[in-house]
Amino acid sequence: MKVSTIGSHSSLQILHGAKMEGFQTSVITDTKREKFYQQFNFIDKVLAFKDIDEAVDLINSEEDSVLIPHGSLVEYLGQERVNKIKTKIYGNRNIFGWEGNQHKKMYLLKTSNIKIPQTFEKPEDVDRVVIVKLPGAKGGRGYFLAKNKQEVRQGIDDLIKKKEINSEEDVIIQEYIVGVPMYFQFFYSTLLQRTEIFGIDIRYETNIDGLRRLPQGYTDVEPTFIVVGNIPAVARESLLPKAQEFAESFVNNVKEKVPPGMIGPFCLESIVTDKGEIVVFEFSGRIVAGTNLYINGSPYSWLYWNEPMSMGRRISRELKNAIINNKIDLVTT
Ligand code: AMP
Repeated sequence: MKVSTIGSHSSLQILHGAKMEGFQTSVITDTKREKFYQQFNFIDKVLAFKDIDEAVDLINSEEDSVLIPHGSLVEYLGQERVNKIKTKIYGNRNIFGWEGNQHKKMYLLKTSNIKIPQTFEKPEDVDRVVIVKLPGAKGGRGYFLAKNKQEVRQGIDDLIKKKEINSEEDVIIQEYIVGVPMYFQFFYSTLLQRTEIFGIDIRYETNIDGLRRLPQGYTDVEPTFIVVGNIPAVARESLLPKAQEFAESFVNNVKEKVPPGMIGPFCLESIVTDKGEIVVFEFSGRIVAGTNLYINGSPYSWLYWNEPMSMGRRISRELKNAIINNKIDLVTT
Protein backbone atom coordinates (compact mmCIF):
# COMPACT_ATOMS: atom_id res chain seq x y z
CA MET A 1 0.00 0.00 0.00
CA LYS A 2 1.11 3.54 -0.86
CA VAL A 3 0.70 6.86 0.92
CA SER A 4 -0.04 9.91 -1.18
CA THR A 5 -0.96 13.52 -0.59
CA ILE A 6 -1.28 16.89 -2.31
CA GLY A 7 2.00 18.85 -2.55
CA SER A 8 1.39 21.70 -0.10
CA HIS A 9 0.70 22.42 3.60
CA SER A 10 2.29 19.48 5.49
CA SER A 11 3.02 17.09 2.62
CA LEU A 12 6.77 16.89 3.30
CA GLN A 13 6.20 15.86 6.88
CA ILE A 14 3.45 13.38 5.90
CA LEU A 15 5.55 11.67 3.23
CA HIS A 16 8.73 11.69 5.31
CA GLY A 17 6.79 9.97 8.10
CA ALA A 18 5.24 7.49 5.67
CA LYS A 19 8.67 6.53 4.36
CA MET A 20 9.96 6.01 7.93
CA GLU A 21 7.10 3.56 8.43
CA GLY A 22 8.04 1.71 5.24
CA PHE A 23 5.40 2.95 2.75
CA GLN A 24 5.86 3.81 -0.92
CA THR A 25 5.05 7.49 -1.31
CA SER A 26 3.71 9.85 -3.96
CA VAL A 27 2.88 13.52 -4.15
CA ILE A 28 0.32 15.11 -6.45
CA THR A 29 1.26 18.67 -7.27
CA ASP A 30 1.18 21.57 -9.65
CA THR A 31 3.84 21.41 -12.42
CA LYS A 32 5.30 24.63 -10.99
CA ARG A 33 6.27 22.76 -7.82
CA GLU A 34 7.35 19.51 -9.48
CA LYS A 35 11.08 20.25 -9.24
CA PHE A 36 10.81 21.28 -5.61
CA TYR A 37 9.32 17.94 -4.57
CA GLN A 38 11.64 15.89 -6.77
CA GLN A 39 14.65 16.79 -4.62
CA PHE A 40 13.45 14.68 -1.65
CA ASN A 41 14.46 11.03 -1.64
CA PHE A 42 11.58 9.96 0.60
CA ILE A 43 9.15 10.83 -2.20
CA ASP A 44 9.05 7.95 -4.66
CA LYS A 45 6.80 9.55 -7.27
CA VAL A 46 5.90 13.13 -8.18
CA LEU A 47 2.68 13.34 -10.20
CA ALA A 48 2.25 16.79 -11.66
CA PHE A 49 -0.85 18.45 -13.07
CA LYS A 50 -1.11 21.58 -15.22
CA ASP A 51 -4.77 22.13 -14.57
CA ILE A 52 -6.40 21.63 -11.18
CA ASP A 53 -9.14 19.55 -12.85
CA GLU A 54 -6.55 16.85 -13.57
CA ALA A 55 -5.68 16.56 -9.87
CA VAL A 56 -8.56 14.24 -8.96
CA ASP A 57 -7.76 11.91 -11.89
CA LEU A 58 -4.16 11.74 -10.71
CA ILE A 59 -5.26 10.98 -7.15
CA ASN A 60 -7.62 8.26 -8.40
CA SER A 61 -4.91 6.83 -10.69
CA GLU A 62 -2.87 5.95 -7.60
CA GLU A 63 -4.49 2.62 -6.99
CA ASP A 64 -3.78 0.81 -3.77
CA SER A 65 -2.98 4.10 -2.13
CA VAL A 66 -4.30 6.03 0.87
CA LEU A 67 -4.62 9.80 0.49
CA ILE A 68 -3.71 11.82 3.58
CA PRO A 69 -5.85 14.97 3.72
CA HIS A 70 -4.48 18.27 4.99
CA GLY A 71 -5.58 21.89 5.16
CA SER A 72 -4.92 22.57 1.50
CA LEU A 73 -6.94 19.64 0.16
CA VAL A 74 -10.39 21.21 0.28
CA GLU A 75 -9.11 24.80 -0.12
CA TYR A 76 -7.11 23.83 -3.22
CA LEU A 77 -9.45 21.39 -4.93
CA GLY A 78 -12.82 22.57 -3.66
CA GLN A 79 -15.41 20.33 -1.99
CA GLU A 80 -16.94 19.21 -5.31
CA ARG A 81 -13.69 17.79 -6.63
CA VAL A 82 -12.90 16.25 -3.26
CA ASN A 83 -16.25 14.42 -3.43
CA LYS A 84 -15.02 12.72 -6.60
CA ILE A 85 -12.00 11.17 -4.90
CA LYS A 86 -12.40 7.40 -5.04
CA THR A 87 -9.12 6.57 -3.33
CA LYS A 88 -9.32 5.73 0.35
CA ILE A 89 -8.87 8.84 2.48
CA TYR A 90 -7.16 8.56 5.85
CA GLY A 91 -9.49 9.95 8.53
CA ASN A 92 -13.13 10.96 8.38
CA ARG A 93 -13.95 12.67 5.07
CA ASN A 94 -17.39 13.64 6.40
CA ILE A 95 -15.84 16.21 8.72
CA PHE A 96 -14.58 18.43 5.86
CA GLY A 97 -18.05 19.92 5.39
CA TRP A 98 -18.27 20.75 9.09
CA GLU A 99 -14.88 22.38 9.12
CA GLY A 100 -15.71 24.49 6.06
CA ASN A 101 -18.83 25.99 7.62
CA GLN A 102 -18.13 28.41 10.46
CA HIS A 103 -21.56 27.94 12.06
CA LYS A 104 -21.48 24.12 12.02
CA LYS A 105 -17.93 24.27 13.29
CA MET A 106 -18.84 26.30 16.37
CA TYR A 107 -21.93 24.12 16.96
CA LEU A 108 -19.71 21.04 17.13
CA LEU A 109 -17.41 22.72 19.65
CA LYS A 110 -20.28 24.04 21.75
CA THR A 111 -22.05 20.71 21.94
CA SER A 112 -18.75 19.18 23.07
CA ASN A 113 -19.03 21.31 26.24
CA ILE A 114 -15.97 23.29 25.24
CA LYS A 115 -15.71 26.97 26.18
CA ILE A 116 -16.08 29.06 23.02
CA PRO A 117 -16.29 32.81 22.28
CA GLN A 118 -19.75 34.32 22.05
CA THR A 119 -21.15 34.45 18.54
CA PHE A 120 -23.36 37.31 17.33
CA GLU A 121 -26.09 36.36 14.87
CA LYS A 122 -26.41 39.82 13.29
CA PRO A 123 -24.15 42.90 13.13
CA GLU A 124 -26.86 44.77 15.07
CA ASP A 125 -26.36 42.47 18.09
CA VAL A 126 -22.68 43.33 18.52
CA ASP A 127 -21.81 44.99 21.86
CA ARG A 128 -18.03 44.48 22.11
CA VAL A 129 -14.86 44.02 20.03
CA VAL A 130 -15.39 41.22 17.52
CA ILE A 131 -13.52 39.35 14.81
CA VAL A 132 -15.44 38.65 11.60
CA LYS A 133 -14.40 35.49 9.76
CA LEU A 134 -14.88 34.07 6.29
CA PRO A 135 -15.72 30.40 5.63
CA GLY A 136 -13.12 27.69 5.09
CA ALA A 137 -9.42 27.40 5.91
CA LYS A 138 -8.28 30.58 4.21
CA GLY A 139 -5.38 31.22 6.54
CA GLY A 140 -7.09 34.25 8.04
CA ARG A 141 -7.49 36.06 4.69
CA GLY A 142 -10.31 38.58 4.67
CA TYR A 143 -10.87 38.49 8.45
CA PHE A 144 -11.36 41.82 10.14
CA LEU A 145 -11.69 43.29 13.60
CA ALA A 146 -14.52 45.63 14.49
CA LYS A 147 -15.18 47.73 17.57
CA ASN A 148 -18.93 48.19 17.10
CA LYS A 149 -21.99 47.21 15.01
CA GLN A 150 -21.38 49.98 12.41
CA GLU A 151 -17.87 48.72 11.66
CA VAL A 152 -19.16 45.15 11.37
CA ARG A 153 -21.87 46.22 8.89
CA GLN A 154 -19.39 48.28 6.85
CA GLY A 155 -16.84 45.43 6.74
CA ILE A 156 -19.43 42.87 5.64
CA ASP A 157 -20.75 45.19 2.92
CA ASP A 158 -17.17 45.65 1.65
CA LEU A 159 -16.64 41.86 1.49
CA ILE A 160 -19.88 41.44 -0.49
CA LYS A 161 -18.82 44.24 -2.87
CA LYS A 162 -15.44 42.56 -3.38
CA LYS A 163 -17.31 39.26 -4.00
CA GLU A 164 -15.38 37.58 -1.19
CA ILE A 165 -18.73 36.40 0.20
CA ASN A 166 -22.27 36.13 -1.19
CA SER A 167 -24.16 37.21 1.88
CA GLU A 168 -23.98 38.02 5.56
CA GLU A 169 -24.73 34.37 6.42
CA ASP A 170 -21.32 33.35 5.05
CA VAL A 171 -19.40 35.04 7.85
CA ILE A 172 -19.26 34.41 11.55
CA ILE A 173 -19.13 37.33 13.99
CA GLN A 174 -17.22 36.27 17.04
CA GLU A 175 -16.29 37.94 20.31
CA TYR A 176 -12.58 38.81 20.24
CA ILE A 177 -10.93 37.06 23.18
CA VAL A 178 -7.96 38.85 24.70
CA GLY A 179 -5.23 36.48 25.84
CA VAL A 180 -2.53 34.51 24.03
CA PRO A 181 -3.09 32.01 21.23
CA MET A 182 -2.19 28.36 21.73
CA TYR A 183 -3.18 25.77 19.18
CA PHE A 184 -3.42 22.37 20.85
CA GLN A 185 -2.69 19.51 18.46
CA PHE A 186 -4.02 16.01 19.14
CA PHE A 187 -4.12 12.56 17.61
CA TYR A 188 -7.05 10.27 18.22
CA SER A 189 -6.01 6.67 17.80
CA THR A 190 -8.95 4.58 16.68
CA LEU A 191 -6.92 1.43 17.24
CA LEU A 192 -5.74 2.28 20.77
CA GLN A 193 -8.92 4.28 21.52
CA ARG A 194 -6.95 7.08 23.11
CA THR A 195 -6.49 10.80 22.56
CA GLU A 196 -2.81 11.75 22.51
CA ILE A 197 -1.70 15.32 23.01
CA PHE A 198 0.85 15.95 20.30
CA GLY A 199 2.08 19.53 20.41
CA ILE A 200 1.25 23.21 20.60
CA ASP A 201 1.94 25.97 18.10
CA ILE A 202 1.17 29.61 17.61
CA ARG A 203 0.45 30.93 14.15
CA TYR A 204 2.71 33.69 12.94
CA GLU A 205 0.34 36.13 11.30
CA THR A 206 0.96 39.20 9.21
CA ASN A 207 0.41 41.93 9.95
CA ILE A 208 -1.02 41.51 13.49
CA ASP A 209 2.26 40.05 14.79
CA GLY A 210 4.20 42.85 13.09
CA LEU A 211 2.08 45.67 14.46
CA ARG A 212 3.17 45.01 18.03
CA ARG A 213 6.77 45.77 16.97
CA LEU A 214 5.77 49.36 16.31
CA PRO A 215 5.39 51.80 19.17
CA GLN A 216 1.80 53.00 19.53
CA GLY A 217 0.78 55.84 17.25
CA TYR A 218 3.23 55.02 14.42
CA THR A 219 0.63 53.64 12.05
CA ASP A 220 -3.10 53.44 11.58
CA VAL A 221 -2.89 50.31 9.41
CA GLU A 222 -5.71 47.86 10.28
CA PRO A 223 -4.69 44.46 11.71
CA THR A 224 -4.86 41.44 9.37
CA PHE A 225 -4.52 37.73 10.18
CA ILE A 226 -2.72 36.11 7.24
CA VAL A 227 -0.85 33.03 8.41
CA VAL A 228 2.72 32.87 7.10
CA GLY A 229 4.29 30.41 9.51
CA ASN A 230 4.18 28.78 12.92
CA ILE A 231 6.03 29.20 16.19
CA PRO A 232 6.43 26.38 18.74
CA ALA A 233 5.05 26.57 22.27
CA VAL A 234 4.77 24.44 25.35
CA ALA A 235 2.06 25.12 27.90
CA ARG A 236 2.24 25.28 31.66
CA GLU A 237 1.70 21.67 32.60
CA SER A 238 -1.35 22.65 34.65
CA LEU A 239 -3.13 23.68 31.42
CA LEU A 240 -2.70 20.28 29.79
CA PRO A 241 -5.39 18.31 31.68
CA LYS A 242 -8.04 20.89 30.68
CA ALA A 243 -6.92 20.84 27.05
CA GLN A 244 -7.00 17.04 27.11
CA GLU A 245 -10.47 17.02 28.68
CA PHE A 246 -11.75 19.28 25.88
CA ALA A 247 -10.13 17.04 23.27
CA GLU A 248 -11.69 13.86 24.67
CA SER A 249 -15.06 15.49 24.94
CA PHE A 250 -14.72 16.63 21.31
CA VAL A 251 -13.83 13.10 20.19
CA ASN A 252 -16.93 11.69 21.93
CA ASN A 253 -19.18 14.32 20.38
CA VAL A 254 -17.81 13.86 16.85
CA LYS A 255 -18.40 10.12 17.17
CA GLU A 256 -22.06 10.85 17.69
CA LYS A 257 -22.60 13.77 15.27
CA VAL A 258 -20.18 13.01 12.42
CA PRO A 259 -19.89 9.23 12.02
CA PRO A 260 -17.59 7.36 12.02
CA GLY A 261 -16.03 9.98 14.34
CA MET A 262 -12.65 11.61 14.72
CA ILE A 263 -9.83 9.59 13.23
CA GLY A 264 -6.23 10.70 13.68
CA PRO A 265 -5.01 14.30 13.87
CA PHE A 266 -7.04 17.32 14.90
CA CYS A 267 -6.42 20.67 16.53
CA LEU A 268 -8.26 22.90 19.00
CA GLU A 269 -7.29 26.48 18.18
CA SER A 270 -7.52 28.41 21.43
CA ILE A 271 -6.85 31.60 23.29
CA VAL A 272 -5.63 31.23 26.86
CA THR A 273 -6.85 34.11 29.02
CA ASP A 274 -5.26 35.69 32.09
CA LYS A 275 -7.73 33.69 34.19
CA GLY A 276 -6.13 30.52 32.87
CA GLU A 277 -9.19 29.68 30.81
CA ILE A 278 -8.87 27.93 27.48
CA VAL A 279 -11.33 29.40 24.97
CA VAL A 280 -11.50 27.44 21.72
CA PHE A 281 -12.36 29.57 18.70
CA GLU A 282 -12.10 26.88 16.02
CA PHE A 283 -11.04 23.33 15.28
CA SER A 284 -9.26 21.59 12.43
CA GLY A 285 -10.39 18.03 11.80
CA ARG A 286 -7.13 16.92 10.16
CA ILE A 287 -3.39 17.56 10.39
CA VAL A 288 -2.51 21.24 10.92
CA ALA A 289 0.56 22.92 9.43
CA GLY A 290 1.75 23.82 12.96
CA THR A 291 2.83 20.17 13.36
CA ASN A 292 5.53 20.85 10.73
CA LEU A 293 7.57 22.24 13.61
CA TYR A 294 7.93 18.80 15.07
CA ILE A 295 9.33 16.70 12.23
CA ASN A 296 11.73 15.05 14.67
CA GLY A 297 9.07 14.56 17.34
CA SER A 298 7.39 17.04 19.68
CA PRO A 299 7.90 17.67 23.41
CA TYR A 300 4.79 15.53 24.01
CA SER A 301 5.14 12.82 21.36
CA TRP A 302 8.41 11.79 23.04
CA LEU A 303 6.39 10.99 26.17
CA TYR A 304 4.26 8.45 24.35
CA TRP A 305 6.83 7.01 21.98
CA ASN A 306 10.41 7.50 23.14
CA GLU A 307 11.42 7.80 19.50
CA PRO A 308 11.18 10.62 16.94
CA MET A 309 7.49 10.68 16.07
CA SER A 310 6.19 13.46 13.85
CA MET A 311 2.47 13.77 13.25
CA GLY A 312 3.11 12.52 9.70
CA ARG A 313 4.82 9.44 11.05
CA ARG A 314 2.11 8.94 13.69
CA ILE A 315 -0.49 8.80 10.90
CA SER A 316 1.51 6.18 9.02
CA ARG A 317 2.19 4.20 12.20
CA GLU A 318 -1.57 3.98 12.76
CA LEU A 319 -2.16 3.09 9.12
CA LYS A 320 0.49 0.38 9.25
CA ASN A 321 -0.98 -1.14 12.43
CA ALA A 322 -4.45 -1.01 10.89
CA ILE A 323 -3.22 -2.88 7.81
CA ILE A 324 -1.39 -5.49 9.91
CA ASN A 325 -4.55 -6.07 11.99
CA ASN A 326 -6.92 -6.07 9.01
CA LYS A 327 -8.62 -2.92 10.28
CA ILE A 328 -7.97 -0.46 7.45
CA ASP A 329 -11.68 0.41 7.34
CA LEU A 330 -11.43 1.75 10.87
CA VAL A 331 -8.97 4.46 9.86
CA THR A 332 -10.09 5.35 6.32
CA THR A 333 -13.31 6.58 4.72
P1 AMP B 1 -8.54 31.40 12.39
O1 AMP B 1 -8.39 31.40 10.91
O2 AMP B 1 -9.93 31.17 12.87
O3 AMP B 1 -7.52 30.49 13.00
O4 AMP B 1 -8.19 32.86 12.91
C1 AMP B 1 -7.05 33.57 12.51
C2 AMP B 1 -6.46 34.29 13.68
O5 AMP B 1 -7.38 35.21 14.24
C3 AMP B 1 -6.11 33.38 14.84
O6 AMP B 1 -4.86 32.76 14.72
C4 AMP B 1 -6.11 34.35 16.01
O7 AMP B 1 -4.93 35.14 16.04
C5 AMP B 1 -7.24 35.26 15.65
N1 AMP B 1 -8.53 34.88 16.24
C6 AMP B 1 -9.50 34.15 15.66
N2 AMP B 1 -10.60 34.08 16.44
C7 AMP B 1 -10.33 34.78 17.54
C8 AMP B 1 -11.08 35.12 18.72
N3 AMP B 1 -12.34 34.72 18.87
N4 AMP B 1 -10.49 35.89 19.65
C9 AMP B 1 -9.21 36.33 19.49
N5 AMP B 1 -8.47 36.07 18.40
C10 AMP B 1 -9.00 35.30 17.42
